[in-house]
Amino acid sequence: MYKEATHVVAGVGPADAKLMIVGEQPGDQEDLQGKPFIGPAGQVLNLQLQRANLQREKIYLTNAVKHFKFQRVGKLRKHSKASGTEMHACRPWLEAEISFVKPKVIIALGLTAATSILGRLPKITGERGQIIRGLPYAEAVIISWHPAAILRAVDPTEAAERKQQLGDDLRLAAGLL
Ligand code: URA
Repeated sequence: MYKEATHVVAGVGPADAKLMIVGEQPGDQEDLQGKPFIGPAGQVLNLQLQRANLQREKIYLTNAVKHFKFQRVGKLRKHSKASGTEMHACRPWLEAEISFVKPKVIIALGLTAATSILGRLPKITGERGQIIRGLPYAEAVIISWHPAAILRAVDPTEAAERKQQLGDDLRLAAGLL
């Protein structure tokens, strides 16, 4: 992945952040600028952070996978899902970030982030919005929709529902800080 990507995208945020948000992997904009969640998915996330009264500057934002994986379609670079092997290869970096920041709460957005944090394949529909305790990384882990899953949803009702649920899950995390 690193051969094709522009930057490795590590996390950003205060070293003593109480909340860590973990996404899947950088997108096109993130790859170009070297920072997480600054493209369209980041805009969706920003709006829901505001709804949950959370200040982005106080959160440590990172990804389970540290490089943008894509396919060229004409001039576009289209996101490709990272494989389990790629997720595992990047896991030591995520673990290093977690052990350095020691967040109280981690929110894992989407399947790749949730799999990396839980160490198993969860079902987002069935497990989102619950407070998961007993994991070594943080007092509480919450899994939620990835903002890209909101942008990708074809049915507007489904998109609105996921957006609402992401906001609810962020608010749940805010209440635990
Ligand atoms: N999607 C992610 O999962 N992470 C980013 O940083 C941007 C988009």
